[in-house]
Amino acid sequence: MDKKPYKSKFDKYIVSCPHCHQDVLDHMMECPYCGGKLEPMYQPIDSDKIRKTRWFLTVILIVVAFLIMASKFLH
Ligand SMILES: [Zn+2]
Repeated sequence: MDKKPYKSKFDKYIVSCPHCHQDVLDHMMECPYCGGKLEPMYQPIDSDKIRKTRWFLTVILIVVAFLIMASKFLH
């Protein structure tokens, strides 16, 4: 029984700091030990991407609404 299940649960979120090699969480932008910059696993969404996603979602909504309306008229 050398494996600790609760620890492995968190292991996937833990990465090694490239500056001081301490264990840090993968979503951290800055190392809490040395203050060095980290590259998180996921990139923070920039506003341009959000705008594009919103536009895309609006188009999908319009298309879905149009399809529902069209199916109502067809039947
Ligand atoms: Zn560090």
